[in-house]
Parts: sequence; structure tokens; C-alpha cells
Amino acid sequence: MTVFPRALGALLSMSALLLVTACGATGGAKADGSQSGQLTIVAGFYPLQYVAERVAGTHASVQSLTKPGAEPHDLELTPKQVASVSTADLVLYEKHFQAAVDDAVAQSGNDHVLDTATVVPLEDHGPLGEEEHEHGDEHSEGTTNLDPHVWLDPNNMIKISDAVTAALTKQDPDNAADYTKNAAALTDDLKGLDSAYRSGLKSCQRTEFVTSHAAFGYLAERYDLTQVPINGLSPDSEPSPARIAAVQQEITKHKVTTIFYETLVSPAVAKSIAGDLKLKTDVLDPIEGITDQSKGKDYVAVMKSNLTALQKANGCS
Ligand SMILES: [Zn+2]
Repeated sequence: MTVFPRALGALLSMSALLLVTACGATGGAKADGSQSGQLTIVAGFYPLQYVAERVAGTHASVQSLTKPGAEPHDLELTPKQVASVSTADLVLYEKHFQAAVDDAVAQSGNDHVLDTATVVPLEDHGPLGEEEHEHGDEHSEGTTNLDPHVWLDPNNMIKISDAVTAALTKQDPDNAADYTKNAAALTDDLKGLDSAYRSGLKSCQRTEFVTSHAAFGYLAERYDLTQVPINGLSPDSEPSPARIAAVQQEITKHKVTTIFYETLVSPAVAKSIAGDLKLKTDVLDPIEGITDQSKGKDYVAVMKSNLTALQKANGCS
């Protein structure tokens, strides 16, 4: 009778073995969704996820801490997401944008992290006016006016792509040639975007454009445009009557035709200002996430849609 449990044990370990084999046969997916042999990359939000996916190609499984359709400002993390920051082969984040991610990285003890703010330093693009202070327009404590939206200038995305390539090459030198090749293809696309923006916005009736929140500072600076945001750097603040009056003044002064709104934020205020002044509304996407509502399947496609929208609103020839 003493043999029986042993036989059972052997049987159990055999079925365990079979299970492992079965997993291998279906592609070896691990609990985190990565395939065996793949690196695991955790990105804070969509544009960083996009760069990681393009550069890593098939060599990594990339997860964004900001779920599709969620707004990345003021992100909160689940315990499982916090754990994923500790175990990832590479964490990509932008310090001073998502406080919860900053905290998770600080507590993770993970050395394989890339803070893109060290690659593209954040610029001070605020405040809009005194009313911003009252409404606490903050991404992280003490960094009120640091503008996180660097990705809307494709040239900044090239710098981030280079840094991701270097990090992946260090982590996984065997596939260095693939990372370099993938990054070159991404850089080509980004340079294409840059030249399309340069030529497409060269001769327009106006440079001013009205946006929902102040996400387009880097883009405006690069292409000599003037952003007139209804809200500050964060989309969740309510504009004061004084801010709305100031925006209306700019609209009249520059004969603005279109009030832009976003896919991830309520268009109510934008639509009410447009209605009052009998103007058009259109989407100008800060590309903080891709959903079914996005005008394009990825970063490059939505950047192209944004260019078309800007050209139409500003009467570019
Ligand atoms: Zn934003």
C-alpha cells in the first residue's frame, strides 16, 4: 500500500510535465502575456508603449500601465501593476507625469528603468493665468508647470526611440541588430511626420489653434504655432469664466474657425464655446491613448490626422 501514493505522485508529476509541454506547444505564454524568451517591457502610457513595440518588435511583450481609453493624467495603479513594475525587464516612464508610476518605480528596486524625462527634459509651459493655481493643475507635487506632452513633437520621439534602443541593446545584446533596424524604420516614419508638418503648416491663414487642454506646447513650439488652450496642462480642471472669456477674445482676434476637442475627455466645454460663437468643432488628439474613437490606428496615423485637422482649421494651402 505504501507504493500507491508514490505511484500517484509520479503520475501527478507526469501530468505536470504534460501541462508544461502543452503550454510550450501553444506558444509558451507566461502569466504576464509574454512568450518564453521574450523580454517584458512595462510602459507608463501609450506613446512610450508605441516606441517600445516598434523598437522591440517580436523580442518583447509590451504592456501599458494606462489602459486603452483611460486618461493617463492622475493614473492610479492596481497592486498587480505595481508588481509588474518590479519584475519588468525594462520600465519606460516619464518622471513628473504620473505620480503613481513615479512611486511604483521608486519602490520597485528595479534597476532596468528608463525615465524619458532624462532624454527629453520637460519644459515649463505654464501657467495659463492666475486661475490655474486655484484649481491645482498638477501632475506631481511641486512640478505644477512642467509640460509632460513631449511626444507630440516627433523629433522628441526620435530621441526616446534612440534611448529605448540603447536600453534594449544593453539588456539583450543578442538581438541588437534587430533593435537597430526597427528603430531606423521608426525614425524614418517620425522624420516623415516632421517634414509633413513643416511643409503642411508653412503657409496658413493663422497660427492660433484652440485646444481642450494644453497638450500641444511642444508641437506648437516646433512648428511655430500658437496654442490657445481652454484648460491647463491637465485635462480635468474646469476653466474659469475669466479663462473662457480670454479664449473667446483670442478666437475673435485671430478669426479662429474651429474649436478642437479630444477623444478621451468630455467635449462639453469645447462644444459650448463653439456653439456660442457659431464655430466648427473637430478632434485634435493629444495621443494619450488609442481607442476605437481615435482617428488612426497608432501614433503615426493619429499625428497625420492631427495635421490634416490643423491645416483645415487654419486655412493652410
Ligand atoms: Zn495631457
